[in-house]
Amino acid sequence: MSHQYKFDIVIIGSGAAGLSAALHLPASVKIAVLAKSRNEQYSSYFAQGGISAVLEPDDSVEQHARDTIEAGAGLCDEAVVTATAAAGRECIEWLSNLGMPFTRDRQEVSASGYHLTREGGHSKRRVVHAADATGKALQQTLQAHILEQDNIKVFDRHVAIDLITREGQCQGLYAYNRGNQHVEVFAAQKVILATGGASKVYLYTSNPDGSTGDGIAMAWRAGCRVANMEFIQFHPTCLYHPEAKSFLVTEAIRGEGGKLLLADGRQFMHNFDSRAELAPRDIVARAIDHEMKRLGIDCVFLDISHKSRAFVKSHFPTIYQRCLEFDIDITRQPIPVVPAAHYTCGGVMVDSSGATDLGNLFAVGEVSYSGLHGANRMASNSLLECLVFSRAAAEKIGAEIKPGKRLPALPHWDESQVTDSDEDIVVAHNWDELRRFMWDYVGIVRTNKRLQRALHRSDLLKREINDYYGNYKVSPDLLELRNLVVVAELIIRSALLRKESRGLHFTLDYPQSSKQFLAPTTLDPRQLQPRKKIASI
Ligand SMILES: Cc1cc2nc3c(=O)[nH]c(=O)nc-3n(C[C@H](O)[C@H](O)[C@H](O)COP(=O)(O)OP(=O)(O)OC[C@H]3O[C@@H](n4cnc5c(N)ncnc54)[C@H](O)[C@@H]3O)c2cc1C
Repeated sequence: MSHQYKFDIVIIGSGAAGLSAALHLPASVKIAVLAKSRNEQYSSYFAQGGISAVLEPDDSVEQHARDTIEAGAGLCDEAVVTATAAAGRECIEWLSNLGMPFTRDRQEVSASGYHLTREGGHSKRRVVHAADATGKALQQTLQAHILEQDNIKVFDRHVAIDLITREGQCQGLYAYNRGNQHVEVFAAQKVILATGGASKVYLYTSNPDGSTGDGIAMAWRAGCRVANMEFIQFHPTCLYHPEAKSFLVTEAIRGEGGKLLLADGRQFMHNFDSRAELAPRDIVARAIDHEMKRLGIDCVFLDISHKSRAFVKSHFPTIYQRCLEFDIDITRQPIPVVPAAHYTCGGVMVDSSGATDLGNLFAVGEVSYSGLHGANRMASNSLLECLVFSRAAAEKIGAEIKPGKRLPALPHWDESQVTDSDEDIVVAHNWDELRRFMWDYVGIVRTNKRLQRALHRSDLLKREINDYYGNYKVSPDLLELRNLVVVAELIIRSALLRKESRGLHFTLDYPQSSKQFLAPTTLDPRQLQPRKKIASI
């Protein structure tokens, strides 16, 4: 019999969104926070740049909103954008009061006292940061406060499998305990999905291993709509090396004169944009992708070795050090790079308080589609979204919840019909196959033909994976693969529906934007799968 836990609230995810939701909830409610692993396997920890917020007198909420809407290429929800931008200052003050070590302005130029940077798309300096490791500082600050709260229990090494629903309401979930290798039941009045993005669906990604879109897939299976899944942001330069996973090579290298080269040393960016290496992120990513596909090559090269050794080492110490670990001395040789999936703009559809289509289920952070990002996310708006929506969800839940309310017993997880797998190779093979065809056919540049091919393959894989899931005991890899194939299908179907190019979605079949598509792409599970398959019990 599976162990049953009862909490007022279960939060799935311990990144910026999940932990800040937990800290904003009333201290009188019992909260469980689930995370897939104890390690730093979530994007929040890796955020480098910072958090956007209007803090200076020469800046304004309207300006921040305008920049966001421009980046979003006509698909942002303007009310959501304005409300989010307006909440920035309070979020930064809240974090500051928690002790977040934001970098201060030593020159005393800024009125706020914070050192602010300016990133792509922002017309002002408005990015607050903690040196170049904002995410790490943020997580450490939030975690320290979580540990002080008696009402919050963290279950790391618990992989949520599926939501338990009854009559349109979420009642809890099943989770696989990596420690005892059993599935446990969590009953709750409210569940918050804070599971992050899905970039691991692509062969190359800047994201850590945990970004497998679990929350999106779970919500979809439970009957929630998703939106804008075709808008995947690709970072142009991630280190390409068989042993280097998920290491971003900052755009600042190009800003300081770094050149993009083919293997024979030829530059190519000027063929694509007059700004060459300084063109916006999506144009550079598309150009690299074009050259890789045209020439059938595995990577291109980013060269900063024409600058002095002292300059390179002092400006890019982390990249210098990390590349040296792979015998690449960037002061002498170019860095092999590929574009990489970086951010999932779409996700589970939520309202302004993070509520989803399913009663008692909320979604906050990268797992969600709130309307903030539109067709392209502006840099440093995502951590802001985590903070703003987690607080909004906590306020709504706080007003509705009855601490200690009796919860019904939920059905146990039935393992009686399944056996241990003797063919783990199937899971490993399908992981690789899925991520490769998503990269090749549903990547930076798309066509109808490639998308149709990908849909066909995802269909075959889905059947095989579901068959495997039905016959063998679950494992974390199998659970993630089962979610990845759902997310893959959602991305492909959304991309097929958008018969234009806009923001991060570029297709050779419809290279222009069209006024006909000035709305988010929404997918409804009731229209894509038989109703009986939606319910998780
Ligand atoms: C390299 C990098 C740099 C970035 N830099 C910036 C930046 O400077 N500024 C900015 O605004 N944004 C940045 N981003 C984006 C930003 O970091 C993310 O959008 C944000 O951190 C997402 O936070 P989250 O809480 O939604 O998810 P995450 O931080 O990814 O956390 C997800 C959590 O959910 C848990 N989880 C997932 N699935 C399950 C499951 N099935 N069961 C149990 N737990 C589960 C994970 O274990 C984890 O605890 C960056 C992203 C990357 C990858």
